[in-house]
Amino acid sequence: MDAEAVLRTLASSPHGLATEEAARRLSTHGPNRLPKARRRSDIARFLSQFHNVLIYVLLAAAAVTLLLDHLTDSLVIAGVVLVNAIVGFIQEGRAERSIDAIRAMMDPHASVMRSGHRISIPAEDVVPGDIVLLEAGERVPADLRLLRTHNLTIDEALLTGESVAATKQVEPVAATATLGDRASAAYSGSLVAAGHGIGVAVATGRSTELGRISTMIGAVESLATPLMRAMDRLARQASAAILGLSAVVFAVAVLWRDYNPETALMAVVGLAVAAIPEGLPAVMTITLAVGVRRMARRNAIIRRLPAVETLGAVSVICSDKTGTLTRNEMTVCNLYTADGAVTVEGVGFGAQGGLLRDGMRLDPAADPLLAELLRAALLCNDAQLHVRDGNPTVDGDPMEGALLVLAVKGGLDPARVRADHPRRDEIPFDARHRYMASLNAADGGQVLSVKGAPERILDMCADVAATGGRRPLDRTAWDATTRLAAAEGQRVIALAFRPVTASQARLSPEAMETGLTLLGLVGLIDPARPEAEVAVRDCRAAGIALKMITGDHAETARAIAARLALADDPQVVTGTDLDRLDDDALRATARSTTVFARTTPEHKLRLVRALQADGSVVAMTGDGVNDAPALKRADIGIAMGGKGTEAAKEASEMVLADDNFATIVAAVREGRTVFDNLTKVLAWSLPTNGGEALTIVFAVLFGLTLPVTPIQILWVNMVTAVALGLTLAFEPTEPGTMRRAPRPPGAPLLSARLIWQLVFVSVLMAAGAFGVHAIAGAWGRDAETARTMAVNALVAMEVFYLFSVRFIHGTSLTLRGLVGTQAVLLGLVGVTVAQIAFTYLPPMQTIFATRPLGVSELALAVGAGVMLLFVVEAEKRLFRLRNHARRPAAHKRGPRRKPE
Ligand code: ADP
Ligand code: MG
Repeated sequence: MDAEAVLRTLASSPHGLATEEAARRLSTHGPNRLPKARRRSDIARFLSQFHNVLIYVLLAAAAVTLLLDHLTDSLVIAGVVLVNAIVGFIQEGRAERSIDAIRAMMDPHASVMRSGHRISIPAEDVVPGDIVLLEAGERVPADLRLLRTHNLTIDEALLTGESVAATKQVEPVAATATLGDRASAAYSGSLVAAGHGIGVAVATGRSTELGRISTMIGAVESLATPLMRAMDRLARQASAAILGLSAVVFAVAVLWRDYNPETALMAVVGLAVAAIPEGLPAVMTITLAVGVRRMARRNAIIRRLPAVETLGAVSVICSDKTGTLTRNEMTVCNLYTADGAVTVEGVGFGAQGGLLRDGMRLDPAADPLLAELLRAALLCNDAQLHVRDGNPTVDGDPMEGALLVLAVKGGLDPARVRADHPRRDEIPFDARHRYMASLNAADGGQVLSVKGAPERILDMCADVAATGGRRPLDRTAWDATTRLAAAEGQRVIALAFRPVTASQARLSPEAMETGLTLLGLVGLIDPARPEAEVAVRDCRAAGIALKMITGDHAETARAIAARLALADDPQVVTGTDLDRLDDDALRATARSTTVFARTTPEHKLRLVRALQADGSVVAMTGDGVNDAPALKRADIGIAMGGKGTEAAKEASEMVLADDNFATIVAAVREGRTVFDNLTKVLAWSLPTNGGEALTIVFAVLFGLTLPVTPIQILWVNMVTAVALGLTLAFEPTEPGTMRRAPRPPGAPLLSARLIWQLVFVSVLMAAGAFGVHAIAGAWGRDAETARTMAVNALVAMEVFYLFSVRFIHGTSLTLRGLVGTQAVLLGLVGVTVAQIAFTYLPPMQTIFATRPLGVSELALAVGAGVMLLFVVEAEKRLFRLRNHARRPAAHKRGPRRKPE
């Protein structure tokens, strides 16, 4: 159908629908979305908690005890399994929900015309008849009949499988054309590869072509990450080892120590149950989810869960300059024309302020050169000025917004001037050619206005406009002016123009290469973000290298880098220099250079590769379509939530809701915290399970009476795993976390240090249980009381050890270490209540064969815990001292690194 006819059929116009009409259509057609994939039902999710090798072993143990008529034991084991499943179910549900909520924060938006204004709305609100604006990098929000295209190509692989982007135009196509040949249509879900266009929505939601082929999108991502899977493997290997060990212990007990088989079996069941870290997988998942939630609270939205782990290992951050390290609140501060320099008053997008030359106010209307320059700044410009909540704001590129403000300060009315000079054609800005051109009707003919990077524009200019006529262009002088302004941190833009006869209808890049007249240079300031300064300092202390990658002038970039102290002596390299380097040379350059200026997005990909080849874990920011390959390649691709395109977001691991560099650093900090907390969970769970298991193994091997019965071990295991282990998932960042060097990539979770700790603490705990049991015997207590004391000692040791583990990198014997988090305190209260019930409640005394304890007996149990804490802290201290003694050597070899 002809475009006009489509508009008529849909009762729409190029000005878009009226707001009320759009609302009415939304209620009749429904929201523009596809049904979400159904998630698992709660029952399925609950049952999946039991699908775990560790749990199978426990269930088998319950069955065995039941067969042996030990009903209470099997009930307690079943209780352990059930409590574990319930905790896992609830926490995992919360984790999934919070991750869904985070996803929802990234719901796509669409640009549409409503009542004559361009506005951004949630893509869900697009209705048939809406006029939709498309730009490179965006996802097409609905099926569209195109009304205007400009070099528009769209990647329709999703629908057609065709990997080459389809070229679009507005002429009608044959009614029989297949989807891939319908050049005048754009389909929902496809990605704009280049150019821009306008179309009218003809179908939304389920009625779109995408809706027809698939009724489900957004499959639920599982909570599994490489680290989680490694943990699962570890857990499975552990259970195999535990079963093996149990068999050996059983054989030893029966054949050598003359246990009767039933007692031996019960001991072995207790051993297996104690040793199996059944709660571990759930706690690990929760730790990760807590990290994701904390990051979201700090505006870092995780798109792929494994990123949480990788973030903690980031060793290089490559950041854009404009808008990430700077505020992207541009203000024109200087103009440089052939007549001399002009100062512009005022900051921000407010229109207060005027133009001054040598301290004297200028009237641009009386100065034809300035008037021409301001008009060019206005016409070669896509931004709009608005007043929102009483504050002047810009829709579009802030730099173009600043040029609009400049024109207003010079006395022009942007809306009037633009209405008087309708645009006939344009060459949009592209980071690769670094200029933009606009062809507008003017003075009975047409005028071509061009703005862009000075060296590009100067290449195109034949002469320069001056009061009293044109003058030849003194290239050296203009280059010097550019450099001088840039060295002050200004972004410099050149403006040029050329009158064109009315007959020329289209612009081509070739026709622009020569014959322009330079109007002048514009210097803009874009202040550095103050919070970025702090974040940069944190990064450097944390041993993370920083690289600024920008399309801006080398001198501008150098000035900003120096202001932010990105490096002590920032080295600057330009894109042209990079092009001359082969991959080997690039590796060395990438390592030693801080600022990459006048780069194109293609350079980013080469830089990521070079840095990775050098062994770095690279985080890279980006916003445009062309940044997508580099974002994908980086270990952590970071897209801008505000100004980023859909293509960039989809290629990235993380999205910054506030486009702020400081947010990246906050996320790295959280990433390190997550890894620390995972380590803490391991460092606590493994030795406590080990201690419980060793207690039984020792007793059997040495033919001693069991200081705790198997059923009591089950109790300890259930209470502490749930109430204590889980609390570590909520630990806040340890002090000094950002003063450590990044974790080497691929460092194992179970380090040699951790394995040593596992053995050391297990032995201490078993020794503590035996010790307390022996002292009770020496005090003349009966067997039941002695066991009750030993159980309480075990629990006390686990509690105190928890406090030690909370600070793996520092001492726990501080006020902060003692106070603890809310989670820890809750866990502590829970354990205490449970232990009081276990010791003093008659029904519990019947089940677990416990006896009430007196003050001295309790004090002995708690004393065992305190002892353990001091021994473990002393060991930590020794370890650190030894490490410090070694440090100077490491200092010389390693990168700059502050002592912890
Ligand atoms: P950055 O990395 O700082 O975002 P860009 O790639 O956006 O850099 O811009 C690179 C250069 O291109 C700028 O220094 C400027 O000279 C020019 N430029 C940027 N935006 C525009 C625009 N809208 N119109 C014309 N030229 C532009
Ligand atoms: Mg930019």
